[in-house]
Amino acid sequence: MTLDDVARYDADRVTERDGHAVVVGASMAGLLAGRVLADAFESVTVLDRDPLPDERVARRGVPQANHVHALLEPGRVMLEDLFPGYGDDLLAEGGVIMDASKKLDLYQQGDFLAESPHELPFYCASRPLFELLVRRRMRERDDVTLRGECHVTGYRSDGEASTVTGVTLVDAADEKDALAADLVVDATGRTSRTPTWLERNGYPTPETEDVGVDLAYSTVAVERPADDDRGYLVVPSPPTTRGGTAVPVEDERWIVTVFGRHGDHPPTDPEGFREFAASLPTAEIRELLDEHEWDGEEIHQYPFPASKRRYYEDLDRFPDGLLVTGDAVASFNPIYGQGMSVAALDALQLHHALANGRSDLQSRFFDRVADTVNVVWRMTVGADFEYAETEGEKPPGTDLLNRYLSWVVDAAHTDGHVSEAFTRVLRLETTPISLMRPSVVGRVAGAKVREYV
Ligand SMILES: Cc1cc2nc3c(=O)[nH]c(=O)nc-3n(C[C@H](O)[C@H](O)[C@H](O)COP(=O)(O)OP(=O)(O)OC[C@H]3O[C@@H](n4cnc5c(N)ncnc54)[C@H](O)[C@@H]3O)c2cc1C
Repeated sequence: MTLDDVARYDADRVTERDGHAVVVGASMAGLLAGRVLADAFESVTVLDRDPLPDERVARRGVPQANHVHALLEPGRVMLEDLFPGYGDDLLAEGGVIMDASKKLDLYQQGDFLAESPHELPFYCASRPLFELLVRRRMRERDDVTLRGECHVTGYRSDGEASTVTGVTLVDAADEKDALAADLVVDATGRTSRTPTWLERNGYPTPETEDVGVDLAYSTVAVERPADDDRGYLVVPSPPTTRGGTAVPVEDERWIVTVFGRHGDHPPTDPEGFREFAASLPTAEIRELLDEHEWDGEEIHQYPFPASKRRYYEDLDRFPDGLLVTGDAVASFNPIYGQGMSVAALDALQLHHALANGRSDLQSRFFDRVADTVNVVWRMTVGADFEYAETEGEKPPGTDLLNRYLSWVVDAAHTDGHVSEAFTRVLRLETTPISLMRPSVVGRVAGAKVREYV
């Protein structure tokens, strides 16, 4: 499921409110889950092992925060629904709201996509700013406590471990402590220890699927004239392994990230970085780097070996009182920019699951999350399998779908309607099935025929 297939957040749907919920991990998935839980629990505590200051920081626990973070439509919509006025907060802090149909130059498969006929709102900020603004809104609530420097070491449970009843932790003073909870949500990201806890307590562990892409990101920030709010994205198409993006953010900067897959990793020295950018098929990113001052010479790098999916929905036994969300369930190849938005869709699914009561919450939640994750996983992994070097299990029908999508992209180079339909799929507004609508198929087929006459 994508944004259009799930009912929007509606606080009035959750009518019962009692108990205490604990969320482990105060990154995007944990904060968004925490906000939704505050409708159904009298109090919510969100814990993180990092300090959680009232400033923009690329925390140790979120090392990817130095790199470009695109906020797709489900993320934007959920942030506005959960924290009305979030976009105003973003603008007040120097973030940028652009119309991506006009301001984002997206290059894929040999050309730029045509301008879409309709506006495509796109919030642009550094990842630390996106997170800080959510943290601030959460801190304003009386029913939510954010606790940094709390390293959660395990779950507390009843005698038979049939119900999770809280967490054990080491606090800021290095003291062991415990916190009781009626529900614990694991939002600790891809290194989640829930599978280990399950195994130790006699539960089956979720099947885990990895799809290897051997990717790495390198990132710098460069100065940006205040009136220039354009963004750029170069998506690699086989056999090319390199791509890049530049996104306008606060402090009158662009964050410029270049990336290479299947071992073609970008360097971390300035000259090497420039050369890598210059090897992209379009000139814009190289020009930004040549024509604007760099914000220091430090180049951050982040290796991303593989997308990872844990199939919690298939488990036939799972303790009560525990849920898992965000990257801990599925962590996607970041070049598609989906992680925060899937975390937002998980929170939306949690909201709907809670609206239907607490009984059998786990299986209803995991089934709902699977509805979202399956669509996104198929899109991501499907696109990754355009490369023969991608490692893992190729979903059936991928080659056929990829062939059709390559026709869609060809048509999108000149046809704004196809470009918009395709972009709305990339933005997780609609599923790829929407590209099979007769209106789109007709335009794609027409473009194909024109190629041959
Ligand atoms: C290089 C890169 C680029 C990306 N680009 C994008 C993008 O453009 N757009 C996008 O939407 N997504 C992007 N993502 C994905 C995005 O960063 C994540 O999907 C998003 O942060 C949600 O993840 P999460 O909250 O589930 O986990 P994480 O962000 O990994 O956070 C986990 C949190 O749990 C805390 N934690 C872990 N263990 C413990 C413990 N034992 N006790 C207490 N706290 C703990 C950590 O400190 C951390 O705060 C990118 C990822 C990478 C790697």
